[in-house]
Amino acid sequence: MTATRLDENILLTADNCRYCLMCRHVCPIGHVTGLETLTPHGWGLMIASNRRGLLTWNDESVFKLYSCADCGTCRAHCVTDQPLPETIATARAQVVEAGLAPPAVGRVAEMLQRWQNPYEEQAPEPVEGRGEVALFVGDEATYLRPGLLDAALKLLEAAGIRPVLIGRGRSNGYVASSLGLIEIAHDLARANLEDLAASGARRLLVLSPGDFFAFKQLYPERLQLSLPDSVDLSEVTVLLAQALDRGELAFEPLPPGPPHAYVDPSHSVRVKTRYDAPRKLLAAVIPAPPVELFWRRERTHPVGSTALKFTIPQFADHLTWARLGDARQAGAQRLISEDAGTLKALGDHAARFGVEVLSLYELLASQLR
Ligand code: SF4
Ligand code: SF4
Repeated sequence: MTATRLDENILLTADNCRYCLMCRHVCPIGHVTGLETLTPHGWGLMIASNRRGLLTWNDESVFKLYSCADCGTCRAHCVTDQPLPETIATARAQVVEAGLAPPAVGRVAEMLQRWQNPYEEQAPEPVEGRGEVALFVGDEATYLRPGLLDAALKLLEAAGIRPVLIGRGRSNGYVASSLGLIEIAHDLARANLEDLAASGARRLLVLSPGDFFAFKQLYPERLQLSLPDSVDLSEVTVLLAQALDRGELAFEPLPPGPPHAYVDPSHSVRVKTRYDAPRKLLAAVIPAPPVELFWRRERTHPVGSTALKFTIPQFADHLTWARLGDARQAGAQRLISEDAGTLKALGDHAARFGVEVLSLYELLASQLR
């Protein structure tokens, strides 16, 4: 698959976005940089101008093209569902094909090609066994928050589920897709789907909304791959919340502590049905009412856990600082989330903001009755 075979209709989205201001106010990169170029219509205008021969890809314009976080917030707020993040990823694929991508993209590509993850020089683990339910582990849960998987498995076992692990140590393909590395993204997605087929599972569980988005939307829209129709996809939090509702799980509440807030993970805006489940689980272990961040639920802003951390880490850090600042402004001293990438980003900077960051799965597992 090459950039020249990508659907031209995706790039035409840029024409629809270039003079539109309707999602400008929700773009997190626009917020943290204060630069008009780095807002949805700015990217739309750049890509549309390139198609008309009015803008060339050079170091400066490529830096701007790679400044979008690929967070999905624009599309989530677009009444006509314009796939602007997909358009930006497509334009990046053309830049990669022309040999004009930033050097950092090449370094990530080397790691992904050789090790199938951008974090450690270690190959993914093969699938062992078969079963009705598979759990996609991915690379972030493996390398950025190793305790998370054990906690999630303990919770699933308490709910009567022993999943077959797939994609353990392998990227879900999002980072590659986001950086314009379309061939690599395709190979990673296909390997994950082959793992799923090898497991024989008819239900696929994922640990984060980012993984849900990858399997549900990114694979078909950006890579022309998809889950088999017979496979049901759901987040672990949603399954656990259902088990809690049925009385199949119970937790020991923690003693009263400092004000706390749930932080919706990066990519939450891309999974609009997920917002209540983690909050319901959290309320089972911390009964005191939480404070809510301003950029939450349908308007969740990402932390710096997207592909931006590899290309423009200073922008990624600003995204994380904005989330921590939002939490401090709301009065929260303890932040809880479940996504490994989100936890890593928040945890790396939490001390500076005087807040504590906790993993939802690990917290729940520690309080199982
Ligand atoms: S994504 Fe939708 S709301 Fe945002 S700039 Fe494009 S057309 Fe406008
Ligand atoms: S994907 Fe996120 S960072 Fe990129 S234009 Fe949309 S809202 Fe802005």
